[in-house]
Amino acid sequence: MSNRPALALIAIGDELLNGRTVNTNATWLGGVLQREGARLERVVTVGDDQDVIAAEIAAAGEHADLILCSGGLGPTDDDRTRHAVAAAAGVPLREDADTVAWLRRRFQRAGRAMPDSNRRQAAFPEGATILRNPIGSAPGFLVGAADPPIAAVPGVPAEFRRLFLDHVLPFLRAEWSDRLRPPPSLLLRTTGESESDLADRLERLEELSGTALASLPSTAGVDLHVVAADAAGLERAHRVLRAELGASVYGTDDVDLVEVVGDALRTRGWGLAVAESCTGGLLAQRITSFAGASDYFLGGIVAYGDEAKRTLAGVDGDLIARHGAVSAEVARALAAGVLARFGAQAAVAITGVAGPGGGSERKPVGTVFVAARTADADEVRALALPGDRAAIRERSAQAALDLLRRSL
Ligand code: ATP
Ligand code: MG
Repeated sequence: MSNRPALALIAIGDELLNGRTVNTNATWLGGVLQREGARLERVVTVGDDQDVIAAEIAAAGEHADLILCSGGLGPTDDDRTRHAVAAAAGVPLREDADTVAWLRRRFQRAGRAMPDSNRRQAAFPEGATILRNPIGSAPGFLVGAADPPIAAVPGVPAEFRRLFLDHVLPFLRAEWSDRLRPPPSLLLRTTGESESDLADRLERLEELSGTALASLPSTAGVDLHVVAADAAGLERAHRVLRAELGASVYGTDDVDLVEVVGDALRTRGWGLAVAESCTGGLLAQRITSFAGASDYFLGGIVAYGDEAKRTLAGVDGDLIARHGAVSAEVARALAAGVLARFGAQAAVAITGVAGPGGGSERKPVGTVFVAARTADADEVRALALPGDRAAIRERSAQAALDLLRRSL
């Protein structure tokens, strides 16, 4: 058993049980606590029912160092969290005059009189620290004297995060500083290899024993989350993984492949043009979602129909007739076409069958050709991509960027 401080989350709200709301607060909290060197020991989801909440607080108290309740702090009579916490802590609720005044001012600024029901939000378990909420009407609170301490914050995700980071996390850090152990960790981003191929390669690496590896696949590729016992172990694992995976690794942590390619182009002073068929502008949209894209991105053409491929991207009509619009030949011609059209030094092109219709025996759904063209390179790749239409389009854009990255 780890000695790291353990937090139990009691997520409160009928909407979390009837399919209306996904408990995103739990997922977010788990990540924050992991990085902090604490742990989310359990997540319990309950409706707005005072007795059930109180019972779950009692049960969680058997294991957790800190209990966090979220939701049910609203102004209506069916918001029961404050009552349940007070009951579990064995103290009465008391109205806080400062909070009543603060609530009144809040309504005044909005040009309204405060409904009487909102006074409920100024009632807190006796002895609790009130956690100011700068972005909503419900303050949270922390009963530090309870065993274990119990905090309650709103369930609205923005408010949940804000109050946790502003108030609960500092409390946790102060209270259990000696037990917080953030694990040295790293995210290695790879693309172009399947999760199972990566797993096969990594299983053979004995140098990685003692390192926890988790692979997280997405349409961007496979991210490897590496957690080591200490900093030296992490450095060793990083070196071994880089040596094994080579060019499949395009970066660490939250870097995007667009940024990697953009940096490489910027360094060379090169301009990029794109020609897109089945991605319909997705790649151009992704590139331009990063500030500073104008340093290297010249523009793109969405050449969806054959006629547009001919007239806008300069693809020979015979080529399309002979090989089909979804072919290696047309992908290469699209790249060459936009390179010339934009006077670019680098170009990529994408043509494929995103589905669900339009596939054939020879070119089933997921058949995609990506091409990259520079002064030194004329590359094309045939891909058989898995997933639905959205996934195939995202994977196509990523593969085109990756082909260009590898040829730079
Ligand atoms: P309400 O009467 O709307 O429930 P409330 O004061 O009880 O008001 P909360 O319980 O804090 O407010 O929840 C407000 C909204 O926040 C919910 O309708 C839901 O959409 C969202 N929410 C609550 N809990 C979570 C959660 N664990 N994860 C994600 N969203 C949540
Ligand atoms: Mg609620």
